[in-house]
Amino acid sequence: MAVSGLGPYDPQNIFAKILRGEIPCRTVFENTFALAFHDIAPKAPVHVLVIPKGPYVSFADFSTTASDAEIAGFTRAVGHVASLLGLDEAGYRLLSNMGAAAGQEVPHFHVHLFGGAALGPMLH
Ligand code: 5GP
Repeated sequence: MAVSGLGPYDPQNIFAKILRGEIPCRTVFENTFALAFHDIAPKAPVHVLVIPKGPYVSFADFSTTASDAEIAGFTRAVGHVASLLGLDEAGYRLLSNMGAAAGQEVPHFHVHLFGGAALGPMLH
């Protein structure tokens, strides 16, 4: 699926390489549906990326073409990661850039999870 200037899914994108273990990452959590790892350039004290295991370019691609089981599994994984990081009490921010114009640089759908500090009205 080509969306917002990202083109079709590129299996050589950096997160695909991380999923295949070709590039290291600092893993927070992994299950059938998702991998969560620390962002290489954190923009908050806690900045974790959560990605689905399947080849989805963006949120638009994921939300329209992934199965209900993948969407449910991924969504639950995001919440689980926030809990694992101890953020439920203090709160956190979820963000996903959809498309090049929104600032999406890596063409594999991902959710940013920010926390660990009082977050301003906007971040990223
Ligand atoms: P986007 O702009 O696509 O929404 O966010 C991409 C994010 O991926 C950025 O926050 C960037 O710091 C992060 N990132 C890019 N390359 C790597 C990498 O090789 N490893 C990790 N852990 N994060 C990366």
